[in-house]
Amino acid sequence: MKPARVIKSIGNQCTLETSEGRILPGILKGKLRLKESESTNPIAVGDYVHIEWDATAQVALITEVLPRHNYIIRKSNKLSKQTQILASNIDNAVLIVTPLFPKTSTGFVDRYIATAEAYHIKTILVFNKSDVFDGESAALIDDYVAIYEPLGYTCLRTSAKNITGIEELKLLLKDKTSLVAGHSGVGKTSLINLLAPGVNLRTGKISKQHGKGMHTTTFAEMLHLPFGGYIIDTPGIRELGTVDFEKAEISHYFVEMQAMMHQCKFHNCLHLNEAQCAVKQAVEVGTIHPMRYYNYLSILNNEDNFN
Ligand code: GDP
Ligand code: ZN
Repeated sequence: MKPARVIKSIGNQCTLETSEGRILPGILKGKLRLKESESTNPIAVGDYVHIEWDATAQVALITEVLPRHNYIIRKSNKLSKQTQILASNIDNAVLIVTPLFPKTSTGFVDRYIATAEAYHIKTILVFNKSDVFDGESAALIDDYVAIYEPLGYTCLRTSAKNITGIEELKLLLKDKTSLVAGHSGVGKTSLINLLAPGVNLRTGKISKQHGKGMHTTTFAEMLHLPFGGYIIDTPGIRELGTVDFEKAEISHYFVEMQAMMHQCKFHNCLHLNEAQCAVKQAVEVGTIHPMRYYNYLSILNNEDNFN
């Protein structure tokens, strides 16, 4: 039998979707529940599982959780070493970006991209509210695209208001499992409503105080796209359980640095003031964008300026 997919999960209970599209309640079979695990949740949204139907209890018993291709985690709480798996088997991370109302900085974008890279997930940048891009904000988006596209990150301009770029977005998401994130107010709900009209998420009003929307999503939730594929509505990067980067590994998640760091004199080079640093040389001659390098330094110094 083809595996079923976990589309919602609370403790040992979950909602499953079979390969034929049937929705079933699911529960872990007794012996699986006792398995030692580093994470607090044995099943996560996105897991592929084998099931057997318990006709008496009218529930699908999960007999096996198939190995995860990848997964994103968060710490159960600040003090605990235990982690919670938020979602698994993810193909794309879609980050929705707006130049204004709210402004998304490259610092935030780079932190998000690096975190996704650490999880082996490629980021797609969706620049929403393109209907209001003009002059300065249009130029800003052009700059962003000029930085990120050559690095291999797909960029797309959309407008949920004018319904432009939506068909292109559907093509990127079709038959894939994609995380969707962005600051509150960027139009995530509006875009999801266009992608999966039945879902009808509430859109929030722009809050005058913050210039950011009021609607906040606090749980990971998997939505089936009518044209094929799933999206997982995730909260911001902080709630997303940013992995605690080791200083020496941060540049591994900046693809252009990763590509040349073996040329640095020291294998554990942090690309600060070390002698014969290939990364710093590349910044000086312009093959690495100074903005990316600056944002790398911010993460290295643990600066919390990711708005
Ligand atoms: P979320 O917080 O990211 O889920 O954002 P919402 O979908 O709730 O949208 C926040 C506000 O931005 C709402 O007032 C939307 O009507 C508006 N909005 C969303 N997408 C667009 C767009 O493409 N263009 C314009 N002009 N406004 C948009
Ligand atoms: Zn270096």
